[in-house]
Amino acid sequence: MNGIVSDIVSMSVNDGPGIRTSVFLKGCPLRCAWCHNPEMQRPLPQALVLPDRCVKCGACSACPSGARGGQGQYDAARCTGCGRCVSLCPMEACRISGAIMSAEAVLARVLPDKPFFRQRGGLTISGGEPLLQADFVLELAELSVRSGIGVVLETSGCAPWESLRPLLLYVRRFLFDWKITDPDLHRRWTGMDNRLIQSNLEKLHDSGAAIVLRCPVIPGVNDTPDHFRGIAGLTRSLPGLLQVDLLPYHALGNSKRKQLGLPADGFPVPPEETVRQWQAQLSALCRVPVCR
Ligand code: SF4
Ligand code: SF4
Ligand code: SF4
Repeated sequence: MNGIVSDIVSMSVNDGPGIRTSVFLKGCPLRCAWCHNPEMQRPLPQALVLPDRCVKCGACSACPSGARGGQGQYDAARCTGCGRCVSLCPMEACRISGAIMSAEAVLARVLPDKPFFRQRGGLTISGGEPLLQADFVLELAELSVRSGIGVVLETSGCAPWESLRPLLLYVRRFLFDWKITDPDLHRRWTGMDNRLIQSNLEKLHDSGAAIVLRCPVIPGVNDTPDHFRGIAGLTRSLPGLLQVDLLPYHALGNSKRKQLGLPADGFPVPPEETVRQWQAQLSALCRVPVCR
């Protein structure tokens, strides 16, 4: 089975325990205003343009979809990922995000890293929202486990339970996002409310899965006492949760927004002191460790 892969990153230490190879899949049903991987939202290949290399020569304006202007302008919404601009550009300023790969081909990219995984490391399947390609994820997870590679799944939880449930057989740990506790605020900032996400989290917990709650904290969005109490409430109502990961907003998504021709998201990067305060507040409320 084929999937649409945005990136494969070796030697990652931020996507689960130990040393990991992370496979990022394209496509996401959410539209988080602070998205750190905006190039992974669309479930199809798509051009990225490196502004530092572009000399505005206009050669790419021959784009058959009219996505490129004569001065290097880019309307990513019109891009079909045909790749013509990549071959036209004299500056190597264009690249395509999203390669169609079989699960076997992805595993072949992961296997050389296996000696580094040891006991704790392995494969992390991430995105976007990987469950948008649930059958591909299931096949990749099964192949990996059969090859002796432990699998972690990073998910927004925004997918039908039926696509999550079969993965219980193969996934060693779930990194499960909890973005905003209030359903209306969740809809406002991500495009959908969190009822399905909460239901999936509860079902996953009740199935005995190992779950780390991943909580992005964005200034002016969810750095509120109500949301922190909501996170703490989950650590009490779902006592099997392993830990809370505090993920302070960072601006890395803005360089990718630039490559998609989009303006910066406008959120401020929180100072270290503020992040320490968030961690202290959450630690005082939660019944599991709050890590960064
Ligand atoms: S890949 Fe390039 S040429 Fe093809 S539609 Fe997208 S912007 Fe246009
Ligand atoms: S062809 Fe390359 S250098 Fe020329 S305008 Fe397009 S992206 Fe920029
Ligand atoms: S769930 Fe992740 S990939 Fe999807 S929009 Fe939100 S931050 Fe971006």
